[in-house]
Amino acid sequence: MTEDLLNLDHVTRSYSSGGLFARTSFRAVDDVSFGLDASRPEIFAIIGESGSGKTTLARMILNMASASAGTIRFRGKALATIRGRRARLDFMRQVQPIFQNPYEAFNPLKRVDRYLYATAHHLARVSSDRMDSACDQALRQVGLSLAEIRGRFPHELSGGQLQRTAIARALISRPALLVADEPVSMVDASLRMSIVYLFKTLRDEFGMSIVYITHDLATAYYISDRIIIMQKGRVVEAGNARTVLDAPQHPYSKLLKSAVLSADSAGAEETTGPGQGREVMSR
Ligand code: ADP
Ligand code: MG
Repeated sequence: MTEDLLNLDHVTRSYSSGGLFARTSFRAVDDVSFGLDASRPEIFAIIGESGSGKTTLARMILNMASASAGTIRFRGKALATIRGRRARLDFMRQVQPIFQNPYEAFNPLKRVDRYLYATAHHLARVSSDRMDSACDQALRQVGLSLAEIRGRFPHELSGGQLQRTAIARALISRPALLVADEPVSMVDASLRMSIVYLFKTLRDEFGMSIVYITHDLATAYYISDRIIIMQKGRVVEAGNARTVLDAPQHPYSKLLKSAVLSADSAGAEETTGPGQGREVMSR
């Protein structure tokens, strides 16, 4: 492991809470370290219940929030040192987000193809004559085409189609790293696995690395290479995804797994196959 694509070194994010006189500081993310190797694309899953610090961690990796302590490096460069429009655009070109709710990612009054064109123009610097083909190519990677979404408003697409469009938008600049924060939790269960499998394709065929944040153990088990399990901001268990999920060691990981198993046996008749990505933890 050279951890030269992404490296988190003892990363902490503190927030203060409470009133004017009784302010206390708590750590939403507490001393988290891990790294991704540029020469070995992988799906790295971050698992944890609601409030465990997953989104805070994602926002720091995306350089949308700064670390209170510790260092995050992308291709060896500390994110805290990225300054100026050029450097920021260069970072965004290489590290792209996918968020939970695609309806929030798109302005309801703006046609969705406009977002793709804007990204192609500003971020990927695609010339105007190649615009349509660049957008169509990205959409085809997610099983859509430009013809299918052209001129459509967000509400005219299904949640699954809109999330695919959001992923296509993220692919236009050919990023090396996707940070996907609960990307399928708003998507119909029947479509979840197809989107999640898309991440596998992006890894295998395009060499993309993906930080896959979820509270769904089943999808993490099926697609991810390595996994960390977070509780209250801290990593309580880390390792090979199947090894950890087959035989969790930490009490919290065991609890997560037993919650999945009991939900599985309770709803067995409605299951259409393994790993339908049913959510088992409260949000
Ligand atoms: P998750 O994504 O795992 O649900 P979050 O990263 O959103 O967790 O939140 C982790 C903790 O940090 C929660 O207790 C949350 O309330 C708190 N938190 C998140 N963002 C802020 C903020 N901007 N200010 C104060 N507290 C925050
Ligand atoms: Mg979150």
